[in-house]
Amino acid sequence: MLNGPPGAGKSAVAPRLAERLGVEAVDLDALVAARAGMPVPELIRREGEVAFRQVERELLAALLDARAPAVIAVGGGALTAAAPRRRALREATVVTLDAPPVELLARIRAGEPRPLVTAWSDPMTALAELLDLRAGGYAEAHYRVSTAGASADDIAAEIAAKVSSPTPLVVPLGARTYRVFFAPLTPDGFRARWAESAPGVSAVVGVTERRVAAHCSALRAALPAPDDSWLVLRPGESSKTLANVARLWSHALARGADRSAAVLCLGGGVVTDLGGFAAATLLRGVRYASVPTSLLGMVDASVGGKTAVDLPEGKNLAGAFHHPSLVWMDVSALRTLSTRELRSGLAEVVKVAVMRDEALLADLEGCAEDLVRRRDDAALARVVRRAVQAKVDVVAEDEREGGLRALLNFGHTVGHGVESASRYRLRHGECVAVGMRAALDLGAALGVTPPPLLRRVGALLDRLGLPSTARVSRAEVERAMAMDKKRGRGALRFALARGAGDGVLVEAPMSAVMRALDGAIETR
Ligand code: NAD
Repeated sequence: MLNGPPGAGKSAVAPRLAERLGVEAVDLDALVAARAGMPVPELIRREGEVAFRQVERELLAALLDARAPAVIAVGGGALTAAAPRRRALREATVVTLDAPPVELLARIRAGEPRPLVTAWSDPMTALAELLDLRAGGYAEAHYRVSTAGASADDIAAEIAAKVSSPTPLVVPLGARTYRVFFAPLTPDGFRARWAESAPGVSAVVGVTERRVAAHCSALRAALPAPDDSWLVLRPGESSKTLANVARLWSHALARGADRSAAVLCLGGGVVTDLGGFAAATLLRGVRYASVPTSLLGMVDASVGGKTAVDLPEGKNLAGAFHHPSLVWMDVSALRTLSTRELRSGLAEVVKVAVMRDEALLADLEGCAEDLVRRRDDAALARVVRRAVQAKVDVVAEDEREGGLRALLNFGHTVGHGVESASRYRLRHGECVAVGMRAALDLGAALGVTPPPLLRRVGALLDRLGLPSTARVSRAEVERAMAMDKKRGRGALRFALARGAGDGVLVEAPMSAVMRALDGAIETR
């Protein structure tokens, strides 16, 4: 789908691109005109912009419903509203065409009248205001292509080359939009995407940890950071400290970091959380990229902008929301991950599936053994991508956890308590699995979760080899949960499953929570 401001060249490029790709070219404005029985400018003049947008929205929805391969040139305002734009980002490949305002205006003047620009006494100001208003929406695209000084044929060739590689996922956050690439990591591939995603980067430093450095040396070599620019930490949660953030700051400054510097994070959630936080705070914020190498890092930690380090008082207590400029997922990295870590990551996939995506839940049920025993790359790639999409959909709607994003805490209220009571002996996903079973029990007791769903998810967790109970001190679990409650201003809000792929937030009575803990904690 070609999007972009008036005069960007969408209608000229669409047929040429369609020809290269061997598909049909569709011009949305032409469809609107045919439906209305009059040219678009006349429709807007006679019935107003609102009526025009209504027809445009209906026809766009029909095109997406039809799922026929085509290059669709949309009018410059067709994807202004968030709902159709987000749908297009999920179901199509969206390319924003762009050019400097002076060039846009020259092309507009040479072509058909555009009432939203040319009807005004000062078209340049009208165009600048339109661009300003729509900038965030235009930024939400799989690719952005400049059409300045280029022929329609050249632009079509450039887009055809881009769309021939696997389509990235877009995390749509207006001007802070970024992309998640799913492909084998190669030096050229990364460099090209990085240059588009983080233009004008000066110094680059890398951060990783020893186990990842040993297992993922090819990935490290593919990243554009020289060998001596890497800070290599000790593996494990104990490295997620402010002291290591300070080391990374100094390391970057010693290598000439200024506001245009960037941090490349290669590793699991520990590295991406720490590197992201260091980037958020270095010189009040520099850019960073995440290349997650653990399953949990891929499906959870590396996307969504939460960065943090641990304090002596507890986990993730100092942090910031700071999104990466790019995330790159190469599932071949998971081949060296231990089975225990793989299972831990799968718990987070089950979590997002139960809360948001029934089809993902069904897929997991269909391939549980392929994932764990056979380590089937294709199954892993499919499941990772789908889980990331489900998380992205939540983040796009609720970036700062005002409501919906709290659904991703399914299993975490009890899970965090278990994790802290186990002194981090248990893996995060193992604790979340125990917490999910407790939340399912709680949901069933409160009449929220249908009992068949409880059995269904329990059976899947068993097949994935995830625990249903933990042998830890119950008093410590309760203490940790009470701390959570205090931070949540007195209420213990649980994400519960109302159906498969259908989560809901519920304030649960303490008595019911205590009963759910009976089933989750084996007393020591
Ligand atoms: P981790 O980074 O410690 O990685 C887990 C283990 O896997 C480590 O031993 C690591 O050395 C090893 N490993 C990683 N990649 C490997 C590979 N390719 N081959 C072999 N071994 C490999 O921890 P994690 O489980 O990835 O992530 C947990 C962390 O993520 C926690 O600190 C948690 O707080 C954080 N987290 C953050 C978010 C968020 O939204 N920011 C979400 C979930 C979790």
